[in-house]
Amino acid sequence: MAAIVSPGLCASCRHARPIAGARSTFWLCDRSRTDPRFPRYPRLPVVRCAGYERAAGEVTPAPPAPPG
Ligand code: SF4
Repeated sequence: MAAIVSPGLCASCRHARPIAGARSTFWLCDRSRTDPRFPRYPRLPVVRCAGYERAAGEVTPAPPAPPG
């Protein structure tokens, strides 16, 4: 069974696109299309990101899950 990993900042970022897979959800970063600094599928959880922009309707960035 796959562990559930919090996406961190991607969860509330306007550039993130969740892609539901059979066993887990991948978070695609749309900034990767135009800026090579950003990986297509960022390593989660993303706790700091220069490209983060809050999505409309989001109040605060989602905190990352504690390790373990
Ligand atoms: S810009 Fe940063 S926070 Fe936003 S989706 Fe890409 S990696 Fe995640």
